Amino acid sequence: MKTIFERIIDKELPAEVLFENERIIAIKDKYPIAPVHILIISKKVIKSIQDIKKEDLGLIPEMIEVAQNLADEFHIANGYRLLTNTGPSSGQTIFHLHFHLIGGRELGTMG
Ligand code: 5GP
Repeated sequence: MKTIFERIIDKELPAEVLFENERIIAIKDKYPIAPVHILIISKKVIKSIQDIKKEDLGLIPEMIEVAQNLADEFHIANGYRLLTNTGPSSGQTIFHLHFHLIGGRELGTMG
């Protein structure tokens, strides 16, 4: 069964798309926890960062570059969080590789 993100990638579900190329799509999070909350999603179906195969590791620097550019675009380059939840106990709810780019407010320390 497709995840929500696969359905967004396949244009079966709507999303506010901020960036897209053949490998990556970046969309606004539907339930933002900060003024800027963007999801940077791999188009290839990979469950989590723990499941990436060596041949797909090149995706990661590309996703980071997308995050950097969006951080500039959304004026949060001076302070943001870029994270990927991995596995159920981390809080991952959609099992399709994505980074959260979060900023636009005082984020404080983790935990
Ligand atoms: P995770 O919990 O897997 O790390 O992150 C999943 C994220 O997807 C959550 O931040 C959640 O708010 C977001 N989300 C869930 N459903 C949708 C949706 O239908 N559209 C968008 N744009 N984001 C969603």
